[in-house]
Amino acid sequence: MERTIETVREAPHWSYSSLQLFLNCPLRYYFRYVEKAEVERTSVSLPFGRAFHAVLSLRAEKGSVYSAEDAKEDFAVYFRGETEVSENLTYKQDEDYWFWEQRGCDMLEVAFAEWPDDYSVKSVAEAFSVDVPGLSKPLIGEFDLVVNDGGDETICDFKTASTKWPTGKADRDLQATAFSFAYQKRHGKIPIFRFDVFTKAKNPVHQQLYTLRTNDDFDRFVYLANKIEAAVNTGIFLPVESCMNCAECAYGDRCKAVHRKAA
Ligand code: SF4
Repeated sequence: MERTIETVREAPHWSYSSLQLFLNCPLRYYFRYVEKAEVERTSVSLPFGRAFHAVLSLRAEKGSVYSAEDAKEDFAVYFRGETEVSENLTYKQDEDYWFWEQRGCDMLEVAFAEWPDDYSVKSVAEAFSVDVPGLSKPLIGEFDLVVNDGGDETICDFKTASTKWPTGKADRDLQATAFSFAYQKRHGKIPIFRFDVFTKAKNPVHQQLYTLRTNDDFDRFVYLANKIEAAVNTGIFLPVESCMNCAECAYGDRCKAVHRKAA
């Protein structure tokens, strides 16, 4: 029986997001994965993204019989549930739950109007756990949707974003590398990778961004993952302060006080 992401998560593991978090800010990685500190605030973008993602998975699974109206109803239920379990949920000024519920429905209109059905679905929410040479723990994750697109096996990953992704972002993205590496390990071939990005703007936009990785990219990924594990094992977790990193950090107060504790 195929394992789910919940079951593969039970054993010690690395994920793309833990590797990426360390690269963004090792101290934030420490708070989340080593200290397992309480979250000081949760941006609404987190429960929103989870709910939107869950509904797109249903569309992928059920096909065109699943309508935009069904999706909007389900989205409202998921979003409500996700916000209720989020610790210290925060909204920006002039925004609230209803603002984001409506925005999610607007985005679903776009997603459903542009949903491509001209391919065969290979899997939906396929969990993986693969060994990475040199690492003490496997790399785990979940392919949102895998399709056979004109003979090419393609991993599709759903994303919500504040703005459109700039040119070149998909080609540099670590998730596409980590997931393509895992796919090759599981299925013996390098897939095409497609990001389906839905912007959270007033007039939402859907981008389909294709990218491809090579064996050299995989060698670099293995090198990088090993360096991260070695760095974590040293126990040195530096803060990397930047507007991009810190704006939505869930550990801002802890971070401000970290040097006082160490003194
Ligand atoms: S506030 Fe910034 S520097 Fe501090 S842990 Fe968070 S992301 Fe890192």
